[in-house]
Amino acid sequence: MIALETPLTSIRGIGQKFTSKLKKMGIETVRDLLWHFPSRYEDFSQIYKIGDLIPNQEATVQGVIEEIETRRAWKRNLTITEALLTDESGSIRAVWFNQPYIKNTLVPGRLANFSGKVTAGKEDIHFSNPTYELVKTQNHADITRTYADTNPIHTARIIPIYPETKGLTSKGIRYLVKPILDNLPRLLDPLPESLAAQFGFPELRRALHDIHFPESLQEALRAKERFAFEDIFILQLFNVTQKLALREKRAPAFPIDIPFVKDLVSHLPFPLTFSQKRSLWEILKDTAKGAPMNRLLQGDVGSGKTIVAAIAALHTAHHGYETALMAPTEILARQHYETFKAFFGEFEGGVALMTAHEHKISYGKHLETTKKKNELLKELQNGAIKVLIGTHALIQKNIGLPNLGLIIIDEQHRFGVEQRASLLHRKTRNATRLPAASAVAERAGEDAETLPQPPASGRRDSATEKIPHFLSMSATPIPRTLSLTLFGDLELSLITELPKNRRPIITKAIPPQERAATYEAVKAQIRSGRQVFVICPRIEPREINSDAPERISFSEWQKLDVKSVTEEFERLSKKIFRGFRVAMLHGRMRAEEKERVMREYIEHRTDILVSTSVIEVGIDVPNATVILIEGADRFGLAQLYQFRGRVGRGAHQSYCFLFTDANSKDVRARLKAIVEAKNGLELAEKDLRQRGPGEFLGNAQTGMPDLAMKALQHPELVHKAREEATRLLKEDPLLKKHPLLKERLGAFQKEIHRE
Ligand code: ADP
Ligand code: MG
Repeated sequence: MIALETPLTSIRGIGQKFTSKLKKMGIETVRDLLWHFPSRYEDFSQIYKIGDLIPNQEATVQGVIEEIETRRAWKRNLTITEALLTDESGSIRAVWFNQPYIKNTLVPGRLANFSGKVTAGKEDIHFSNPTYELVKTQNHADITRTYADTNPIHTARIIPIYPETKGLTSKGIRYLVKPILDNLPRLLDPLPESLAAQFGFPELRRALHDIHFPESLQEALRAKERFAFEDIFILQLFNVTQKLALREKRAPAFPIDIPFVKDLVSHLPFPLTFSQKRSLWEILKDTAKGAPMNRLLQGDVGSGKTIVAAIAALHTAHHGYETALMAPTEILARQHYETFKAFFGEFEGGVALMTAHEHKISYGKHLETTKKKNELLKELQNGAIKVLIGTHALIQKNIGLPNLGLIIIDEQHRFGVEQRASLLHRKTRNATRLPAASAVAERAGEDAETLPQPPASGRRDSATEKIPHFLSMSATPIPRTLSLTLFGDLELSLITELPKNRRPIITKAIPPQERAATYEAVKAQIRSGRQVFVICPRIEPREINSDAPERISFSEWQKLDVKSVTEEFERLSKKIFRGFRVAMLHGRMRAEEKERVMREYIEHRTDILVSTSVIEVGIDVPNATVILIEGADRFGLAQLYQFRGRVGRGAHQSYCFLFTDANSKDVRARLKAIVEAKNGLELAEKDLRQRGPGEFLGNAQTGMPDLAMKALQHPELVHKAREEATRLLKEDPLLKKHPLLKERLGAFQKEIHRE
């Protein structure tokens, strides 16, 4: 009997040829195969009379094979198979190239279906390469029998089209899936029955059938929704479990010292924006409690997240605890360190910078010393340093802060579940007080447990166990639905406006005929001492791999990116901007190389930085006043908005030039949206509505996970799933009554961990 775990190799009738191809797609068991869902459907369900066909119609016809023959074309290596199909209304020819074996199947006298596009030739209409299928009849000659009592797979129905690989067609997959589905026993359904009933979802086996061989497109949609819900539900179970587990933990409490905070704020050279204040307040309220904070601070590039985080850090220090601030790159780490020095020069508690190349401590404005790494580590251990700033990797490996109270992670998660995953793996083990270093590692994802401890075990003396508060910062505008999905266990603080002193960036779409004049204007900017960013066009995979654009790998993509940026660099440095200092940056460069190029740019040793679209958003170069975006129409709105945020940070007027060759109405309308948008989140949502999740993402390099995609397509399901997950875990915290769910959750956690 077939079970979901049955390996395909042990099923009779599936040859080695198939199984090895399937394996390449990661399909090894019945489950893998059945969960390889169609990407779309073609509706061939209606059978037309041959006499009624019109050119270019997509249709299915049914008739008797009158004749069939294969001949060799005058070109070498080409065979042509031609069949004539007849029903009571007429006859039609079908032609296939290089498939002589069709002759073995389509025997004259048999009843068959052809599905495909009707092609108009010089003399007649015919099918070119139609899908064909024999129709079973009691008596082959008896063509009066209708197809109703047969069970077609490839024709005369709604036909599933699968994501394909070389040598394995949709037809091949259908051929494998159908008999397995027909012989599948009733399956245990991880979704609780009551839930499925509430949403009117079909039960599992039925849903599998419907998603592969639906009777109607609604049926397919319903089934798709059921599977999407299941995945989202598991993710929400995971989020809620994490949240409950965290609730069991204690953290040091830092009662808000209002005069202290007011004093810090009043010494800043600018007033905080309203939402900076609100976010700061939310953070301080969280850390005042003895429960661990778990918060995401989200705000556009340049909205001033660092200051907010810095004040939280100083407030933590005020209570005698340390803060670790981790940035993804050395440049960003140094930038944060400089922020502390610039704005909080009075703070004498010890702020340290630790990267691969630098080890510094400053105790107040004028007391900065460069240290050996060992010395720095020693000072960390004796508690002299209150704020430690560095790159993720380094901090996680090295530190031993005696009283770590707050962990801040900057720009860590874009859309990736991978990054998110690492944040999820905080300490959940039933241990007594941990050394601070491993607490950091665990909260930041170094050392993860597979399953979180069940929240309701109750016996633990949780008071002994204190873990640091946790704040993560991100400039990626994530619509609410998505953040609820991916970051469902985080509280959210939003900075929704930019500081008031910013001059609006002049944004213009530049059609080809204005290109030369624009370059001249840019040169004038450089001559007056400003700097320029150039973003290279995004390469669409379908431009180079029309076969299977979705299958292009990350590294292939990176290569393309490098090609694009190299070409642009050559063009600009040798021709357009000859005589200026042009530098290039892309994802394939070594980290050190990248750091060097960025540093040179920040220090104004180069004028123009040509980069791919994947380069860090966080860098703050107030002297850069121009950003040129090549192929602007290829980017999502949200992404364009992010790019633009790199300029407009200083006192000088800034410009964003969107180069586009596609000067259509649509492009103009979209670019207009950029000019008008108040914040990135608003744009992200607009983008999402207008162009769907794929476009919203802007480019596949970020690898928007499948789950996020589903969440975006079914926002209502996300909220429902969240509610239901909470309810279920309240009733059954250990999922004792739901072993299948528990198993799925465990598998999910393992998977996340592996990423
Ligand atoms: P991000 O949110 O992108 O991390 P930063 O924290 O780097 O932004 O801040 C960008 C710039 O804005 C910095 O130079 C910072 O000093 C400045 N800034 C922050 N808050 C304000 C404010 N309220 N008014 C004016 N400038 C501010
Ligand atoms: Mg930042």
